[in-house]
Amino acid sequence: MSDIDSAQDCLFCRIVAGDIPAQKVMETDRVVAFRDIAPQAPVHILVVPRTHAPNVAALAAAAPEELAEMAQVAQRIADAECGGEYRWIFNTGAAAGQTVFHAHGHVMNGGTLGWSA
Ligand code: 5GP
Ligand code: ZN
Repeated sequence: MSDIDSAQDCLFCRIVAGDIPAQKVMETDRVVAFRDIAPQAPVHILVVPRTHAPNVAALAAAAPEELAEMAQVAQRIADAECGGEYRWIFNTGAAAGQTVFHAHGHVMNGGTLGWSA
């Protein structure tokens, strides 16, 4: 395993812990959601589990209840921000555009979303 699979020095673990500031929009016992620092759409919010897992499949195996809560949080955010309709993206692997190896879903809406958004 490379060090990107580890929670050590993980950017999103540090945001979840409050060590690095972020524009948080919702927090639950299992999930934190905050605005993407480089939004690709008018609504672009990251939904992140508190448990470190390198991607969504690993999270589903390690903590399925956190993934289920992420889905509920994503919907609540979309209800508040964009009429309940949204795209939910999980990039898995560098070749697919994943740059932060702590599972996260992008909640996006607005503008003209292309498939590569
Ligand atoms: P990925 O490319 O791994 O699917 O998504 C990572 C996302 O995290 C990117 O959209 C990127 O803009 C966002 N991001 C990277 N660093 C930070 C940061 O320090 N704060 C916030 N709020 N977002 C970040
Ligand atoms: Zn992490």
